[in-house]
Amino acid sequence: MSEGKQTKFVTAGRDKKWTNGVVNPPVQRASTVVFNTVAEQQNAIVNRANKTLFYGRRGTNTHFALQDAMVEVEGGAGCALYPCGTAAISNAILSFVETGDHILMVDTCYEPTRDFCNKIMAKMGVETTYFDPTIGAEIRDLIQPNTKVLFLESPGSITMEVQDVPTLARIAHEQDIVVMLDNTWAAGVNFSPFDFGVDISIQAATKYIVGHSDVMLGTAVANEKHWPQLREQSYLMGQCVSADDAYLGLRGIRTLDVRLRQHAENSLKVAQWLQSRPEVDHVRHPALETCPGHEFFLRDFTGGNGLFSVVLKSSYPKATTALLDGMKHFSMGYSWGGFESLILANEPASFNHLRTVAHPHFEGTLIRLHIGLEDVNDLIADLEQGLARYNALILEKEASY
Ligand SMILES: *Cc1c(COP(=O)(O)O)cnc(C)c1O
Repeated sequence: MSEGKQTKFVTAGRDKKWTNGVVNPPVQRASTVVFNTVAEQQNAIVNRANKTLFYGRRGTNTHFALQDAMVEVEGGAGCALYPCGTAAISNAILSFVETGDHILMVDTCYEPTRDFCNKIMAKMGVETTYFDPTIGAEIRDLIQPNTKVLFLESPGSITMEVQDVPTLARIAHEQDIVVMLDNTWAAGVNFSPFDFGVDISIQAATKYIVGHSDVMLGTAVANEKHWPQLREQSYLMGQCVSADDAYLGLRGIRTLDVRLRQHAENSLKVAQWLQSRPEVDHVRHPALETCPGHEFFLRDFTGGNGLFSVVLKSSYPKATTALLDGMKHFSMGYSWGGFESLILANEPASFNHLRTVAHPHFEGTLIRLHIGLEDVNDLIADLEQGLARYNALILEKEASY
């Protein structure tokens, strides 16, 4: 009988080689690895890319345990570690393009991913074409002879469009294009990238893997075909993380699945409550029909989490400010994936610089929520009071006409 999924989160990466007889691997801080004999040194040179202690930048047993755990959780052949999610994204792309190449980038990518393409890739003579997240098989029309990377992020950043990853990956592979996915939302738990044709699965481990808003960490897990190139090129770019941060990433994996299920349960309750509110135009929660690509969520994902967006009927920044400023349990902060609830607002005009081909054309303000592990009734009460403050200002505005 194959082991249940939950068991994996408890056992992943806990090989005795790394743990040395205790439950968790020690935090092995090191720059220098010392060899007692020339034979030992020679052995380290030969196996340096193969989880043998060589030099700090190649990692220590703490890093090797996290790398093993990520591969056990996500699949694939190997995991490269980075000081943050953005470093994982930029280095993964950089490892597979050269001057004259072309990238196909989903228009709803994380903003720094777009900036990396526009400001760094462009400078190196690598061109980027942005595509609508709902494009499906028509991606074929955008492929050029020099297209090397297809980059996806599903659901899309802020606007939450779930993509048809297997269709996009299949078409890209016909032309030998490397398929990369920013898999941060699914956290490697609720979407199995390698079952759907992804070659490299990237995560801002800063979010759910670490799960406690106290570490910056990035991961990129690659399949057999792409692992050696990703590993060596990232290594040459000097990408490495501290043993302490690797340890905290590994610790987060132990509770990852159970945390996600609670985040998902809470977020669905809040999303459904918001759907019933008169101020709300629609809710963009992948588990709800009103989210673009909901059918792909049902088909390809095994669960949700705490992050979704809600689009209001109107845009009145003064009222939005009243809503946000008085929240008791929701803090305003970039990032998400910790145990705490967060809230951010995007007025429709903000999408003018965030999108080139898939402008959502909202009439109203988009509010992005991260639903944490608090009592969900407290969160709903907080939002209810926020909407009362919001409505008071909308009424004032209407009265002034
Ligand atoms: C936060 C985030 C990143 C970047 O991660 P950092 O660790 O903050 O650099 C990348 N992709 C997504 C989807 C994110 O939410």
